[in-house]
Amino acid sequence: MTPRTALTIAGSDSGGGAGIQADLRTFFACGVHGLVSLTAVTVQNSLGVQGFTEIPADVVTAQIKAVATDMGVDAAKTGMLATAEIIRAVAKTLDEVHIGQRTGVPFVVDPVAASMTGHALLREEALDAIRTELFPRATLVTPNLDEVRLLTGISVTDPVSQRAAAEALLGFGSAWVLVKGGHMENAADCVDLLSDGREFIELSGPRYDTENTHGGGDTLASAITASLAKGADVPAAVSEGKRFIERCVAESYALGKGVGPVSPFW
Ligand code: PLP
Repeated sequence: MTPRTALTIAGSDSGGGAGIQADLRTFFACGVHGLVSLTAVTVQNSLGVQGFTEIPADVVTAQIKAVATDMGVDAAKTGMLATAEIIRAVAKTLDEVHIGQRTGVPFVVDPVAASMTGHALLREEALDAIRTELFPRATLVTPNLDEVRLLTGISVTDPVSQRAAAEALLGFGSAWVLVKGGHMENAADCVDLLSDGREFIELSGPRYDTENTHGGGDTLASAITASLAKGADVPAAVSEGKRFIERCVAESYALGKGVGPVSPFW
């Protein structure tokens, strides 16, 4: 049986915890065939990102065209995009191969700006390109609270500011937004807010006592993308993705001297 396909447009993590490594194993675990357009090569381990080199924008877009025109893409996601030039080129190419909310193929934007260890994964001028080029094409955007602050200026500290952030982000044009609450301090549970501007759906889950959450955002966005590739609607895909990442966080492990990865082994 030929499985559905999911495309990740993202960077490599030499430590194997985040980036395309996390995306591909999540796609595999969720039963979809993973396709890749590599955007950057990072040099990193559990202690952090030591640097990165971006792939030329025309090579990023050639990878997308090669797989989309031959194998077909049932859903796509972006992770680390590195530069405004890559973002603009990706946006143009997605239109050409009919990926994105305007053309029907579900498209998830994980607006990766920095690693949890605080290292930039995006050149500064690129934030604006994410808002203007990618958000209007996105079926769903999945920022964490640091990314929400960078994109909207809103510091989310409670459910009221979380809703205000969702509304501000929807103003950039995505169909849905998931404001992830996992990094909200002092909260007993991990409450994410999913909205399309009409519905505001709170998704609550347990907070696990672990430092080892490297790759968590990528894994969640990939699990959601896999569910969308299999035909789920956005609320169903997000709740399936959340169940998947909870399992990965619950089983996360220490590796190296710093932050270990969420686990695909369960
Ligand atoms: N490296 C790459 C290539 C990534 O795409 C990401 C996140 O998307 C990270 C590192 C950072 O992951 P984390 O913030 O989970 O440490």
